[in-house]
This record gives sequence, structure tokens and C-alpha cells, in this order.
Amino acid sequence: MHIVLLGAPGAGKGTQADTLCEKFNLVHVASGDLFREAASAGTELGKKAKSYMEKGLLVPDDITISLIKEKVDGLGTAKGVLLDGFPRTLEQAKALDKNLEVRGKKVDKAVFINVSSDELLRRLSGRWICRQCQAPYHMQSAPPRVAGRCDKCGGELYQRADDTADTVKKRLEVYFAQTSPLIDYYRQKGKLVEVKGEGDPRVVGKGMLKALSGTKQE
Ligand code: ADP
Ligand code: ZN
Repeated sequence: MHIVLLGAPGAGKGTQADTLCEKFNLVHVASGDLFREAASAGTELGKKAKSYMEKGLLVPDDITISLIKEKVDGLGTAKGVLLDGFPRTLEQAKALDKNLEVRGKKVDKAVFINVSSDELLRRLSGRWICRQCQAPYHMQSAPPRVAGRCDKCGGELYQRADDTADTVKKRLEVYFAQTSPLIDYYRQKGKLVEVKGEGDPRVVGKGMLKALSGTKQE
């Protein structure tokens, strides 16, 4: 089973990804995390990706597609996969369909977490993330119990370099120009499951699972 998670930066993909992985027993593949790992490891790919990420731009399709393909192929077939942050362009979506097709697989569902752009801006400025487990916090609306420490694992919280005001604006622009067309792409294929992403994350998660309740686990 392959689920694609769609939504703007700040829509809450990371949080709902955990819920989906647990429910459907999927491996979580987050393209942004892979790029950040490569960047801090200082690999050639990482350096290149970093130069785009810092500006709030998408990493070019050729690099992104081969990185994800390598990762997904390496996972084998024992478990399904949740793709979080990939695809982000039509080119990437078509490449994914092709790669899965040669293995007799397909994208089963695309879950779109819909959040208004005002709310996205508010969430992204003020966001802190756990270095160890990637759990997100918000300075105003979801602060950790102990300042600077993750409630779940005690890890150190940090603010992503691309969560600054100007870069946040750019990322949202890029999302609406390049990624939001994917909503129609999956809708036309009858695979889109749309979920309202505002309000309590647990309620959002319940709504999402309900919307997916007809989906069989393979
Ligand atoms: P967010 O969804 O909050 O922007 P991500 O962690 O998913 O955060 O992505 C961070 C950055 O990594 C993006 O702004 C982009 O530069 C790069 N990136 C992630 N996924 C992709 C992708 N599928 N295609 C191109 N660039 C990507
Ligand atoms: Zn943590």
C-alpha cells in the first residue's frame, strides 16, 4: 500500500503521518527529512539541496526523484509506504506512478490536509521541532512542557533555518504554484481524500482515519 500525503508547509503533515503509519503499518518517508539529513552529513547531494532549501525553493526534480526512488526501492515490499512531502510537482507525481507501475504497485490514496493560508503563516512562524524525533511544537499554541525540550523524547528543540518570515512566504508561494496542482491530479484519478486540517490535531487525525475507513490494508 502506498499513501501520498499532500498539503502546504505547515499543514500538519508530519503529525498526521505518524497517525497514518501506525494505523496502516507503513514506513514513513519524508523527503524534507531526507534532504536535511543529507545536508547535515555534508554529502554532494546534501550541499546542493541545502542551497535550494535555504531559499524556500524546491530541490530540482532529477535530484529529488532519484533520491526518493533509491529510498523506496531500498525498503523492499514487506511494508507499505507513506510518502510525506513527495511528490511536490507534476513531474515527480508522474515519475512516482511510473516507478510503482514497473513493480506492479500504485498510489492507493492521496490524503490532502487542507489549511487556510492565514493559518499556515501563523503556524510556520513560531514553529520549533525536535532534533531527535521531529515532533513539532509552536511557541504560542503548542509549547513544550519544558522550554527547549521535547515532551515525547526529551530531545533538543530547534527552529528550522527555512522557518524565517521571508522564506516561509516563498515556500507558500512555491506550494501554491507548483504543488497544489497535484490535488487535481489525484482527484481526477479518484484517489483524493480531503481532510480539514484546522483545529486539534487529534480531531484532524480522527477525521482523516474516518475518511479512509473504506481503505483496505494489504
Ligand atoms: P515543509 O513541507 O514544511 O516545507 P519539508 O521538510 O517537507 O517542509 O521540506 C523542506 C524543503 O525541502 C522544501 O522547502 C524543499 O526545498 C525541499 N523538498 C522537500 N521535498 C521536496 C520535493 N519533493 N521536491 C523538491 N524539494 C523538496
Ligand atoms: Zn522528540
